[in-house]
Amino acid sequence: MTDLPVRIRPEIAALPAYTQGKQAGAEAFKLSSNENPFAPLPSVVAAVQAAIAVNRYPDASSPRLRARLAERFGVGDDAVHIAAGSVSILFQLAQATSGPGDEILFSWRSFEAYPSLATVAGATAVTVANDAAGGHDLDAMAAAVTERTRMIIVCSPNNPTGPVVTQADFDAFLGRVPNDVLVILDEAYAEFVTDPDAVAGADVIAAGHANVVVLRTFSKAYGLAGLRVGYAVGDPRILAAARSTGIPLSVTAAAEEAALASLDAEEELLERVRTLAAHRDDLAARLRATGWDVPEAQGNFVWLPAGARALEVAAAFEEAGLIVRPFAGDGVRISIGEHEAIEPIVRVAASVAPRP
Ligand code: PMP
Repeated sequence: MTDLPVRIRPEIAALPAYTQGKQAGAEAFKLSSNENPFAPLPSVVAAVQAAIAVNRYPDASSPRLRARLAERFGVGDDAVHIAAGSVSILFQLAQATSGPGDEILFSWRSFEAYPSLATVAGATAVTVANDAAGGHDLDAMAAAVTERTRMIIVCSPNNPTGPVVTQADFDAFLGRVPNDVLVILDEAYAEFVTDPDAVAGADVIAAGHANVVVLRTFSKAYGLAGLRVGYAVGDPRILAAARSTGIPLSVTAAAEEAALASLDAEEELLERVRTLAAHRDDLAARLRATGWDVPEAQGNFVWLPAGARALEVAAAFEEAGLIVRPFAGDGVRISIGEHEAIEPIVRVAASVAPRP
C-alpha cells in the first residue's frame, strides 16, 4: 500500500473504533451487550410503522419526546436533550466542555466509550481505579480533580462491574467538586436498580445542581437499543452546548415515536424490568455459591472478576452457546437475557470457578 497522503490526527490513528459485544448465532444466547431480551411490544412496533414519513426529515430536537420527559422530571423542555443514544450525548458533552490540555475524569473499569470520548475531544482521560468491591472510589476521584478537570463521569450502576453509587456518597462528592466542573451521572441502567440507597438522578435534578447532567437511555430497560435514543436532563445552557456539537438530525422519527409509545406502555415495560432484576439477583446469588466473588449487581448484568483468566473463562461460556463479554485481564460481564440461559450460565461458571 502507498503511504496515506491525508493526515489523520495521531491520537485518532491510534484509537481503536468502538467494538460491540459479539453477535450470536441462532443457537447461542447473546449476553454480551446488556440488551433487553424481550421482543418489542406490538404497540411500539405499530407506532414505529405509523410514524415514518421516510422521505421527510425528523423534527430536529424531538420536541414531543422532550416535552414528555421534561414533565416527568419537573423541568422545562429546554432542560432535556435527546440524541441518538446516550453515548452520543457523552461525546457531545466532552466536545462542549473539554479540549487539549483539559482532563476528563472517571472510574475504571467502566463504560468502554469513556476513554474514547476524551481522546476524540483532544482531552486527556484521567482514571481512578474502582474500589475493591467494583464500585467508584469517590474520595479518590475527588482527590484526583485538578484545575484542568472539566468533566467527570459517574456511572451508577457501573458498567461492567455492577455496583451503584449511594445518594449520600454522591452528595458528599458534589460538595467536594468545584462547581465549574461538569459532573455527568450516567444512569443507563437506572431502571434496574433495587438498592434503596442508590443515587437517583431525578432527585439530583430536583435538588438543582447547575453543574450536574443526568444521562438516561431507552436502549436497556425500554428495549430500544436498535433504534438509538437516549437523553440528558440538566441545565439548559449546558444542553444547548451539547446540541451545538451534535450531528444534526440524527434522532430518527421512528426512534422518537418508539420512545413515546414506550412511555405510554411503561408499566408493562417496567414489569419486564422487575423480572430481569429478579433473575439478576438469583443469578448473582447462585454464581456466588459456585465460588465467584460477584460484586453487587444493580444493572441488567453480572460481573465475574476473572482477572488474567477472563478470555479463557469467556471461551468456556462461548463453547456452551453463551456469548458473554470478556475484558482481557480483568473480568467477564454476563447480561441478563433469556431466562433459559440462567441454568447453563451457572453450570459453566461452576466449571471454571476460582479454586480456593
Ligand atoms: N452509558 C453506559 C454506562 C452504557 O453501558 C451504555 C451502553 N452500553 C451507554 C451509556 C450508551 O447507551 P446508548 O447509547 O445505547 O443510549
